[in-house]
Formats: sequence, C-alpha cells, structure tokens
Amino acid sequence: MPEHNSTTELKTTTDQARLRLSSLENLDDLETWRLEVLGRHGLLTNLMKGIGDLPNEIRKEFGQIANQERANLENAYTNRLLELKNTPNDTSGVDVSLPGRLPVRGALHPITQVRRQILDVFTRLGFTTIEGPEVEADSYNFGKLRIPPDHPARDMWDTFWLDGSHLDEKILLRTHTSPMQIRYMESHPEPPIRIAVPGRCYRYEATDATHEWMLEQVELLVIDQGITLANLKGTLQEWARQMFGADRKIMMRHSYFPFVEPGVEVAIDCFDCDGSDRSCGICRGSGWLELLGAGMVHPEIIAEAGYDPDVYSGFAAGMGVERVAMVLQGVTDIRHYHDNRHPFLSQF
Ligand SMILES: [Zn+2]
Repeated sequence: MPEHNSTTELKTTTDQARLRLSSLENLDDLETWRLEVLGRHGLLTNLMKGIGDLPNEIRKEFGQIANQERANLENAYTNRLLELKNTPNDTSGVDVSLPGRLPVRGALHPITQVRRQILDVFTRLGFTTIEGPEVEADSYNFGKLRIPPDHPARDMWDTFWLDGSHLDEKILLRTHTSPMQIRYMESHPEPPIRIAVPGRCYRYEATDATHEWMLEQVELLVIDQGITLANLKGTLQEWARQMFGADRKIMMRHSYFPFVEPGVEVAIDCFDCDGSDRSCGICRGSGWLELLGAGMVHPEIIAEAGYDPDVYSGFAAGMGVERVAMVLQGVTDIRHYHDNRHPFLSQF
C-alpha cells in the first residue's frame, strides 16, 4: 500500500526536527526546540489534530507512526539534553572567553621572611637556632643579666608584668631574647656554644614610627676559648655583607649594656647613598644605619654559668628583626607590620 501524503508529511517533519535537534548547541535552544516540536501546541500535536480528517484505512497506521515518532523524538531530546549538560564548553551560562579567576595566593609575613633570611646567614656561619620562653622569670630577664632591682638600666626595658603571686618570683613578658643566653649556658656544662635565638619580645612603651610594644629579636651567643672582639666583628661583617650586599662595611661604637663588657652599637654604611645625600630616606645623610647592639659576654656572667672566665670568653649580639626588615624593605613605620592590613602585607 502506497504511503498516504499525510504519512509522508509526518515523516518529513519529524526527520527535519531530528536534524535540527542534533545541531543545537545550548540548553536555551534545546528548550525552544522542545516547545516547538513536543510541546502542547507543537508540531506533533498539530499533525495529530488532523487525524480525524484522514480516510479510515490509513488513520490507524498514521496514528501508530505518529506515536512511534513522538517516542523517538522524546528519546533523542533526552539524549541531547544529557549531552549538552555534560559538555564542558556549554555556553548557555558561561562566557568561555573570560579570563579565569586567579586563586588567592598566600605568602609568609614580611617579618617571618626577614627572620628566616637572618637565620639562614647565621646557619651558614655555623650557628644553631634555638628558641626560648616568652614568659620569663624576673631573674632570667634581669637579675642574672646583671640588672638587679633598682638598676637604672631597668628603665630601658619596662615591660608587662604577669600575675605570679603563686610563684617564688615575679614573671613578665621578656623584654629581650638575652635570657636564653643564661638558660642555654646553665643547661650546657661545657662550651663551645654557638647559638642564634629568634623570638618575640615585649616593651611597655608608647608606639611611634620606630617603636612597637611587640618586636622580634634574633640573639647571638658564642662562647669558646680565645673568642675576641675580632670574632664578633668578623661575624657581623659577614652577616651584613650577605644581608645587604657584598660592599657593606660595619662600624662599631662603644655603648653600654649591663651584660657585656665592652658593649658596642653596630651600624652598617648606607647602601643607598655614601652619606652625601642629606635627604636620604635610609640614613638621613649620616651615611650609617644603627642596626644592633652587641658586646663581649661579661666575665661575671661566664663565671655564673659555671665556666672558667680565664679559659672561656664569648660575644653576644641582639638585633631587632623589624629594624632590619624596615631597612631591607624600605618601610618607614614599624607599626605597619602588625596592623594586619592586607594591602600592606600583600606587597611582600
Ligand atoms: Zn643614605
């Protein structure tokens, strides 16, 4: 039996719909197609509406074909829907030409970076890094460092006192890393000693561009036979070269710290100008930058630790990590470091 025109028309229509379906590239177009072809007022529904006008002998066959075609198209639709949903370059809601979002990248705090730089140099020079308690006993922070109660030097190191009423002596937040000199010597009966002690220290004082109530220090202690001021100078000279450049010179000037004799303040020559630029932001025209305090360990402290001061001598040095960082990083206000503001910190 030859196909009736209506049946041919039905097949042509569904073939075209199927062809269009396979060319659809996004979910919006697919939904439009679904409404036009399978929807309540879609193509197939319209074709079925004419079934009542068909001659009896082909009505049944037309109905069967139409139902079969609808089922086929619904299957094809479902498949295409799954395909488009699983295609990574589905462009229905995403502009694939946009640049990607960069992940947020973390970094070490600038003070941590500089502390590590400092310690790297001393590690290469043979120092061992150790740490000590931030809460200290009065005797370790002051007394054993030759700063008894009422000593005027205590005025330089006012600090935060803690409630130690249940203890034998007063406790405080350490004002420097020097207590670890004593603690380390007490626990090591025999020199040689060559240690670097990083850590936080606290001062009870008003803050300004160069003073903070919390700061990081790195302390050095060397004790051995025949250690002289020349060893101190050589060590710090080499450190300055590795931190600030091979041409750096250091200058030592006499200073006073109760636990060393003699005591020195150590400066490096300005690496930005040679002292000729009065407006130099780093040295203000002086040509030198004060960086740290140091000196030869007082013989009384060596004796107190149980070593023979006629056999052993040593040097100690303490530097503020923030101070070194400010010089290295060109930062003019120490308070920036612990403000925790991201725009500042993210520069490093
Ligand atoms: Zn300068």
